[in-house]
Amino acid sequence: MKTDPKLHALILERIGRLMGLAEENQRKNPSRAKRYVALAGRMSTRYRVRMPERFKKRICKVCSRYWIPGYNVTVRLNRRNRTVEYRCECGALRRFGYTEKKK
Ligand SMILES: [Zn+2]
Repeated sequence: MKTDPKLHALILERIGRLMGLAEENQRKNPSRAKRYVALAGRMSTRYRVRMPERFKKRICKVCSRYWIPGYNVTVRLNRRNRTVEYRCECGALRRFGYTEKKK
């Protein structure tokens, strides 16, 4: 079943707010941030609302940390397989592809 558009918008807004809170709390209160991330994830599953791309790249799927580059995640480019690699504090590695600009 598809989610009603109004509900969809509401859930998206809530996810956004939770992610904002997670970002604020990641440094001083990591366990709380973790809960916000988990909640946002559950909401996205429960209501079938896709996690926006910008958040997908800020969450660890393994430990639910909110990623702050240079703080709890290392971001590197791998030229060979053209990926952006996110190495989380917990050791998890996630890759996202990128394509070089065509000349
Ligand atoms: Zn992790």
